[in-house]
Amino acid sequence: MRIEILNTGTELLLGNTLNTHGAWFGRELFKLGLRVARQTSVPDGEAIREALTETLGRADAVIVTGGLGPTSDDLTREITAEVLGLELVQDAAARRSLEAFFALRERPMAEANLKQVLTPIGAASLPNPHGTAPGVFIPPHLAGRSNAAVFLLPGPPPELYPMYHAEVAPRLRVLAGTARPPAMLELKFTGIGESDFHAGIDARLAAIHGLEYGYCAHIGEVDLRLIGTADALAQGRMIALERFAPLLVSDDGSSLEQTVVRLLGEHRLTLATAESCTGGLLASRITDVPGASAVFTHGFVTYANQAKQDLLGVRAGDLLTHGAVSEPVARQMAEGMLAVSGADLAVAVTGIAGPTGGSPEQPVGTAWIAVAQRHGATRACRVFQPRNRRDFKQGVSQAALDAVRKHLLECRETPR
Ligand code: AMP
Ligand code: MG
Repeated sequence: MRIEILNTGTELLLGNTLNTHGAWFGRELFKLGLRVARQTSVPDGEAIREALTETLGRADAVIVTGGLGPTSDDLTREITAEVLGLELVQDAAARRSLEAFFALRERPMAEANLKQVLTPIGAASLPNPHGTAPGVFIPPHLAGRSNAAVFLLPGPPPELYPMYHAEVAPRLRVLAGTARPPAMLELKFTGIGESDFHAGIDARLAAIHGLEYGYCAHIGEVDLRLIGTADALAQGRMIALERFAPLLVSDDGSSLEQTVVRLLGEHRLTLATAESCTGGLLASRITDVPGASAVFTHGFVTYANQAKQDLLGVRAGDLLTHGAVSEPVARQMAEGMLAVSGADLAVAVTGIAGPTGGSPEQPVGTAWIAVAQRHGATRACRVFQPRNRRDFKQGVSQAALDAVRKHLLECRETPR
């Protein structure tokens, strides 16, 4: 079944409102085993006519959002009726609901609101308990001019979402029949670029019958998306893990920070952070995770050399000899943090975000990461992320979280 989404609203094209409906429908329809074939955004007014005419020629179902309000730029209902050659009449039940909506709020109903209860003859008015604009369902084949089912839905998410669940999803299920929805699996990997990742497994994934797959790159992360039968997913997963198991962050949508917090909990270990170039982002990401308080004790942002000396005991001589962005300083930061915090594990980051401050030995984008553990050897690694400051911080925090993840996986203490 080919489903198209038509989002109307001048605010979407001016960039004043982010079009979240596209992503939302993609996720919701997938749960029904359905896919969005195309999504179109148009301004309010006459532009809807052309877009609707086009989609009606291609789609089995069209979901139109927005433009059901009482004002003169809300023309979705009127234009749809014209395009399909359907006559609009007042829906008695919708009118009673609208009058009740205003009575309940002790507000008078404006004349303009009455146009909101206009419904094409033969179509169903979809109740809107959260607003004044009822939706409209035009069944397929009602109009000789199109075979597509058409849903007209209000733009505001608090009205749209409940109406979708109550009125649209059940109808789509009927229209789509009983085909078994495919399953989806998302594997998140870190510490590898998209092209290397792709080169490692692409040919083998392509050979799996009934598997649709795709990659999505983020800073310091590649997501592998698998869609298909349970058997195809199992094969795809096996191929990815044969090659990249040590880089797997999660197979259930969990972020790297969620995985780190979970692993810390399983090992009954606590963590503290000492950050320079990431400015607290590392601690922020960890504390984004519910339950972080059970495993996270402290985070220091020691940006100046003096702060590294005063709070973490980094030696002035090493700062002078090796520079603040160096392996010895990263190690001393992690070990100092361990001592100060009393945590079981400490991770430290120090780097050069740029755009200035680089040198031939330590160019902009260089960072050192160290992980220290009570009664264990401190490990350090260098990463190179020449990006803008914001992405550099994201990339370095990602590498630091990954260093903690790897450390925990290799931890001798067995999880409980
Ligand atoms: P409407 O009056 O039905 O056209 O809807 C307008 C309201 O819904 C405004 O608050 C919009 O910001 C919001 N809205 C409409 N379309 C979208 C969309 N595609 N994504 C997010 N919000 C939207
Ligand atoms: Mg609008």
